[in-house]
Amino acid sequence: MYYVGVDIGGTNVKAGIIDETGKIVVKSSIPTDSDKDYKKITGDVAAQIRALADSAKIDWQEVAGVGIGCPGIITSETGVIDYTCNLGWRGVPLAAEFTARLDKPAFVSNDANVAALGEAMFGTGKDYRDVIFITLGTGVGGGVIIDNKLFEGYLSKGAELGHMVINVDGELCGCGRRGCMEAYCSATALIRDTKRAMQADKESAMWQYVGGDPEKVDGKTAFSCSKKGDGKTRNRRLHKISPRRFVEFCKYLPSAGDNSRRRSVRPGRLSCKARSEICGRAHLRRRPCSAYAYSHRHAGQRRGTCGSGVAGHEQIKGVKKAH
Ligand SMILES: [Zn+2]
Repeated sequence: MYYVGVDIGGTNVKAGIIDETGKIVVKSSIPTDSDKDYKKITGDVAAQIRALADSAKIDWQEVAGVGIGCPGIITSETGVIDYTCNLGWRGVPLAAEFTARLDKPAFVSNDANVAALGEAMFGTGKDYRDVIFITLGTGVGGGVIIDNKLFEGYLSKGAELGHMVINVDGELCGCGRRGCMEAYCSATALIRDTKRAMQADKESAMWQYVGGDPEKVDGKTAFSCSKKGDGKTRNRRLHKISPRRFVEFCKYLPSAGDNSRRRSVRPGRLSCKARSEICGRAHLRRRPCSAYAYSHRHAGQRRGTCGSGVAGHEQIKGVKKAH
């Protein structure tokens, strides 16, 4: 059998068809409709999925169902998007919409949750029962797998690890609270801190890199400048030419990851491998930039589509959630 995975983002919607082993047989990406009209988006994506099945010569009868990952607050039992700020949706019956268009059962959950499922079943965490997954991008998302089952919590918000406070009265977060992990470890936070640092030191490499224009700063700026310190003096030069906050970013990231592990998973049950590669303190302290790139690459690409398909796969096979 095959399963359809759909990863809905504010910029693009990625869709793919996976097989029983989690391999993405065929995939595509289409821009999210500029009006964010969910009926238009689901119509476009459904047409794309059928075209994908045709191109891969997959008999539609062999497609068992559809799994969808979407940012925001979601009631997965009913398949309704309660609210997603990225798309401005409220009360959108997304699963029912896909079922109507594709004539297959559909399951929807938070995008970080389904990405966690993909990583847990077919990625770094495949040999372990308990996995913490952290997505690093514009914001910080999280997924928790306990005893091989997805933990969603109340209104699928139980694994919103990005809004765990790691510094009381710290930086203001987009959620309105202060000191959340997202306020320190997201690309948004890094851009904010890069701007602050370069404006405070106009002799800095960052200032020169963007020609003194803060609008040109992105999530890569501090990393690109730090690369100039490659070699034996890398760490010393990284501290010298990068903003103080960039170094703090590298400090907060592993701490927050380890915090998630300690609070969310029974002690000793999280895999060592997953811990060291996804959120391990020792690993990240040693190679913070590589770890960031690793996490970002997985979170933003393969695992979303694959994980969505896996979510549909799990739902269809009747696997129960942890809570
Ligand atoms: Zn927050």
